[in-house]
Amino acid sequence: MPWINEDSCVGCGICVEECPVNAISMEDGKAEINMDECIRCGRCHKVCPQEAVRHDSEKIPQEIEENIQWVKKLMEHYKTDEDRRGFLKRIEKHFNKEKTVAEKTMEEIRDLKG
Ligand code: SF4
Ligand code: SF4
Repeated sequence: MPWINEDSCVGCGICVEECPVNAISMEDGKAEINMDECIRCGRCHKVCPQEAVRHDSEKIPQEIEENIQWVKKLMEHYKTDEDRRGFLKRIEKHFNKEKTVAEKTMEEIRDLKG
C-alpha cells in the first residue's frame, strides 16, 4: 500500500490530480492518502516527481519494531518468569494466526489470477 514520505513531498498536488478515486488530499501542504478509498492502482508512485510516494515494503522494519515495542509494553504487566513465558506463547499464537490469514489469503488471490 502506498504512503507519503512527508519529508520528500513538496505539495505540488500532481498525485491529487492523477488519483482516479480522489483518495489523496492535501493537508498542511503535504499529500495524504485515505487508505479506505485507495484502490492500489500505483499511479501516484509513477507521477510523483519527488519519489515521495513510497512502497509498503519499506515499512517492514518499522512495523516489526512497533510490534516488538507493543509486546514489551504488554509484558510489563506480568510479574513472574512463568507468567511472561505464558504471555509470550500466546503472542506467538497471535502472530502465527496473522501469518496463516496472510498465507491463506494469498492462496485465494492466486486462484483469482486463474
Ligand atoms: S506528487 Fe509527490 S510531491 Fe507532489 S504532492 Fe504528491 S506526493 Fe507530494
Ligand atoms: S495508488 Fe492509486 S488509488 Fe491509491 S492513492 Fe495512489 S493513485 Fe490513488
